[in-house]
Amino acid sequence: MSKHIAILGSTGSIGTQTLEVVEANPEEFIVDVLTANNNVELLIKQAKKFKPDVVVIACEERYEELTEALKEEPIKVYTGIDAIAQVVQMSSIDVVVTAMVGYSGLLPTIKAIEAKKNIALANKETLVVAGEIIQKLALENGVSIYPVDSEHSAIFQCLSGEFDNSIEKIYLTASGGPFRGKDKKFLETVTSKQALKHPNWDMGAKITIDSASMMNKGFEAIEAKWLFDLKPAQVDVIVHPQSIVHSLVQFEDGSMKAQMGLPDMKLPIQFALTYPKRFKTDFPRFNFLDYPNLSFEPADYESFKNLNLAFQAMEKGGNMPCIINAANEIMVEAFLKDQVGFLQMSDIIEGCMDQLGFISKPSYEDYVITDTETRKLALSML
Ligand code: MN
Repeated sequence: MSKHIAILGSTGSIGTQTLEVVEANPEEFIVDVLTANNNVELLIKQAKKFKPDVVVIACEERYEELTEALKEEPIKVYTGIDAIAQVVQMSSIDVVVTAMVGYSGLLPTIKAIEAKKNIALANKETLVVAGEIIQKLALENGVSIYPVDSEHSAIFQCLSGEFDNSIEKIYLTASGGPFRGKDKKFLETVTSKQALKHPNWDMGAKITIDSASMMNKGFEAIEAKWLFDLKPAQVDVIVHPQSIVHSLVQFEDGSMKAQMGLPDMKLPIQFALTYPKRFKTDFPRFNFLDYPNLSFEPADYESFKNLNLAFQAMEKGGNMPCIINAANEIMVEAFLKDQVGFLQMSDIIEGCMDQLGFISKPSYEDYVITDTETRKLALSML
């Protein structure tokens, strides 16, 4: 029986790779829904090729172009972010791949879980902002959340067959990004162009900047806390420049398991969709002799202050991770437009963490308000 999937953010890096996985396994998957933010050209191509029942373009100015291009197709076309939150509830859908960028992933993910859809989670910001709400809802609705993020997929794979065996600790591996080993003096003057050159992974702009600043790894720590029900002290980060070991789990007997492979997001995407099965692929295989020296080094929490701030936010809990996420989204946007320096991003994020009101047990509405207020404050600090 084929699995019916909805892909939110189908024109982004994860979205397009998800469609490659679908294309390689035409018997297994049927695409019911595709949504995009504003890349209407690619969305049209994808819609014609994969014939979903529904497509949504978030950006309303692109709606006419989309309807015009698809008028001969038996495809329903909608626009706006509310439409995305609605279409994920369609009865035919089995699993929703959340591959949009940032905070915008939160509401559709909540709606999908409430409609009892399993989630292949690529939008880590959803768990960073509101992990507590998401996990509670998933439990109440009997929904599984399968990680797409490569580190979390690695941990998920290591936990396979471990049943009730407790995790002592996890190690999230980090490539260190393009500025590994650099000090603050160097980082002061780096540009967005330099930051966009990731050594190992080909990803979207937002996550590539987050990788360069190490905020991505900080967010992944928070994501792991919620996915695997861990205490902050059980989450550690180790820099591993080759990106071959995708993360490790240490069990209570001291044994460690790692998941390895060449860096290719299609593998974790596919596993999130086929779990517990592994489908045959023709991806290039890892060869030990090409990598005789796998190396590991400590993370630099001082030069990459974002990592420190994210761990502080994880410890503090409440709406603090929501604050750090919203401030970071504003900073990354500004950095991409050369409106803020690389190190300044952390300073403004820290300023937001200090100044915004702390809420220890936020409701969904509290998160919405925190997100809006943080964005305002962060913009004012530019
Ligand atoms: Mn990752």
